[in-house]
Amino acid sequence: MSNIETTLIHGGISIDEHTGAVNVPIYQTSTYKQDGLGKMRGYEYSRTGNPTREALEALIAELEGGVAGFAFGSGMAATTAVLSLLHSGDRVLISSNVYGGTFRVLAKVFNHFNINYSIADTTDFKAFEDAITPDVKAVMIESPANPLMTVTDIRAISEISHKHDLLVIVDNTFMTPYLQRPLELGADIVVHSATKYLGGHSDVVAGLAVVSTKELAEQIAFIQNSTGGVLPPFDSFLLIRGIKTLGVRLDRHVENALKIAEFLKNNPAVSKVYYPGLKDDPGYEINSKQAKNGGVMMSFELTKEYDHRLFFEKLNLITLAESLGGVESLVCHPASMTHASIPADIREKVGITDGLIRLSTGIENVNDIISDLDQAIKASKVKN
Ligand SMILES: *Cc1c(COP(=O)(O)O)cnc(C)c1O
Repeated sequence: MSNIETTLIHGGISIDEHTGAVNVPIYQTSTYKQDGLGKMRGYEYSRTGNPTREALEALIAELEGGVAGFAFGSGMAATTAVLSLLHSGDRVLISSNVYGGTFRVLAKVFNHFNINYSIADTTDFKAFEDAITPDVKAVMIESPANPLMTVTDIRAISEISHKHDLLVIVDNTFMTPYLQRPLELGADIVVHSATKYLGGHSDVVAGLAVVSTKELAEQIAFIQNSTGGVLPPFDSFLLIRGIKTLGVRLDRHVENALKIAEFLKNNPAVSKVYYPGLKDDPGYEINSKQAKNGGVMMSFELTKEYDHRLFFEKLNLITLAESLGGVESLVCHPASMTHASIPADIREKVGITDGLIRLSTGIENVNDIISDLDQAIKASKVKN
């Protein structure tokens, strides 16, 4: 197998067999001619299969080291398809600061079908194992987890879970296969919001899933075709195009993130920095064992002399917006934005305070990003 930088560009199906085009064409078609009854040329209907989508699906499967990949209309559609493996009466364990939308779909949609969830601390192995009741059939984790960048030992959690025959699902959105490959660490399924780093340009909403066995591949293929939340051909093309530059983008993203984390850590106006790329972060050691580096995402809190509302308003370069993973730097306020669907008491308990600020570092010149943070912090001082 090639090195990952090469697979990003040449993996999956990268050359069009018919014309030699170096990019997979956008097969903008819903249906396909059959040469006679039952004589298909490999495709029959684009919900079931489309060559552009298949090229993307083969690419992400190769990048994550899985058996098969599946592309969906959003990260939540991918997660929904994967959770649809569960049956009425089953329960899924989720970590305490799982993505807000994952929490919401379990708490407010899957509950209609009597599929339940429990919240477990995946950083405490004993507490985690104790939470495995007989109805638990799957565990869904993120590492680092949004927005406190909590690191979970994917290998250890997979081992404990497999002792109890649980399906291990990892949302690898924050790291991507360039920085972390959960299937190699023992997970069974990886899901992505490809809207983030894989797409990389904040111009497409997409989701991906990769599975580790042929049996799971057959089940997810069936669910994908039955429930129909597939990614359109044009968006599949955009994602293939985005993935080609994932390596160079992430190298710069991470380089910038490290410098910014150090700037924040050394800034007396900042009371807390959560970033597993810093050596004194509680997640540093485990993260270093399972990922190439600390990734890009970080959160921080200002001391009480500063007003976080003012800080958001004073930023010039960095944009206040939902989402992350694009080439431009974005900030968000988890308590009122990404994690608003998590009840306030749970939010406070896990540390998603009202003053928490999440930063998705872009690939602009790092000095420009730091200057903007610096001036906005200074301008948001309300007390001496
Ligand atoms: C954004 C996000 C999702 C949801 O993906 P969409 O593409 O917005 O549906 C899931 N997990 C994580 C970690 C995310 O950041």
